[in-house]
Amino acid sequence: MSAAFDCQTCGACCAQFRVSFYWAEADDAPGGTVPVALTEAISPHLRCMQGTSSRRPHCIALEGQVGQQVSCRIYDLRASTCRAVQVGDAQCLRARERHGLPTA
Ligand code: SF4
Ligand code: SF4
Repeated sequence: MSAAFDCQTCGACCAQFRVSFYWAEADDAPGGTVPVALTEAISPHLRCMQGTSSRRPHCIALEGQVGQQVSCRIYDLRASTCRAVQVGDAQCLRARERHGLPTA
């Protein structure tokens, strides 16, 4: 696993996959944090970040330009799905590759 990538100049994983999570991670449930207004329902028990369920995913909370300068405007409130991606893991590398960013 590599730790050499800088997420703030990347953002590829926020513009590659459907970012889904258990509905109660949204802030209309007790203890939930993800702003519900930025999510959409995909099943009775699952939500996803708006913008990530399309053919060309791009999370609504991602600001900036992928591969240049980015930030997550709900970083401290983001879902477990977002937190699970680690720099250099398989999902990270796949996202970077698909955005034409170096993977080594
Ligand atoms: S793809 Fe990897 S390097 Fe890029 S933002 Fe996601 S975790 Fe960070
Ligand atoms: S909520 Fe933030 S960390 Fe999660 S996919 Fe969107 S921009 Fe990325």
